[in-house]
Amino acid sequence: MSTVGQQLQQAVVLPASLDEAVSALSARPEAVPVAGGTDLMVAVNAGLLRPAALVGLGRINELRGWQYQDGHALLGAGLTHARMGRPDFAALIPALAVAARTAGPTQIRNAGTLGGNIVSAAPTGDALPVLAALEATVLLAGPDGTREVSISHLLTGMDPLRPGELVAFVRVPLLHAPQTFLKATGRSGPARAVASVAVVLDPARRAVRCAVGAVAPMPLRPLEVEGWVSGCIDWDGRRFIDPQACAAFGEYVAAACVPAHEPSGDPPTQDGAAAAPPASLLQLRRTVAVLARRALGRALA
Ligand SMILES: Cc1cc2nc3c(=O)[nH]c(=O)nc-3n(C[C@H](O)[C@H](O)[C@H](O)COP(=O)(O)OP(=O)(O)OC[C@H]3O[C@@H](n4cnc5c(N)ncnc54)[C@H](O)[C@@H]3O)c2cc1C
Repeated sequence: MSTVGQQLQQAVVLPASLDEAVSALSARPEAVPVAGGTDLMVAVNAGLLRPAALVGLGRINELRGWQYQDGHALLGAGLTHARMGRPDFAALIPALAVAARTAGPTQIRNAGTLGGNIVSAAPTGDALPVLAALEATVLLAGPDGTREVSISHLLTGMDPLRPGELVAFVRVPLLHAPQTFLKATGRSGPARAVASVAVVLDPARRAVRCAVGAVAPMPLRPLEVEGWVSGCIDWDGRRFIDPQACAAFGEYVAAACVPAHEPSGDPPTQDGAAAAPPASLLQLRRTVAVLARRALGRALA
């Protein structure tokens, strides 16, 4: 075993409860939590991370399931993608189950967790647009107790994870209505998203919520488009939407979420006209438009 491996083995703590894990992190502030290790070990192997110690979360049973609470599901951060992809979970939060089923190959889905997906906060994290569209909140456990933050505040850094804090649970409203997640990848088979779209219906609020993943550092919500399309739906009847409105929804979502120019792209021309968007951005816009249109169409079908 390598010297790094030996040092790490000596410094691995495996708490059996959330409280023990928080205490272990407080006792060794240099320690790094690890759940499935699918992101963390990639960083270690690439030489990007040299954790002085690890706090393994894999033995904390209370983080591996879910419970019902006031019309919400309280999801443990240790839920694996494989577990979330199973039918009983899919009956509860269909879009999150679909996202979990697409999150990498089988061995990754067996080990990778919801909490790890949130803390890694990769633009391609498949759970993230779903949680954003659901307006989920995250319960953080730390040395000063527990606090709850919205997923978007956590992901945008408005309310980041503080030293010594762990993601304990994710609170998701149970909407009892159709919801979808669609993902485009650059190849066939399991792969990271080039773009993804989550659409959820919230009939009680007569609202459609949508989030686009992978096109920006964090999921994007096209709020104005959500408001417009919510008004196009016959909520009291069959939840019908005119196909033209559905197609327009796709175009509007794409225009709102995919910029017309690369940040470092060509400036406007001398006569003030904007330069044409590069082909890659046009392609991305087309992809997002198709995903959004299909996602809404399926949710309303
Ligand atoms: C080959 C491959 C393919 C992949 N494909 C996809 C894909 O298609 N879609 C996708 O979304 N992801 C994909 N991933 C990424 C990864 O599997 C997910 O992000 C996974 O959910 C990470 O969870 P984990 O438990 O393995 O996190 P870990 O690697 O254990 O941890 C990741 C980070 O989160 C921190 N952390 C973990 N749990 C907690 C917690 N409860 N509280 C505080 N901090 C915590 C760790 O300290 C670390 O910084 C892929 C990864 C690989 C290697």
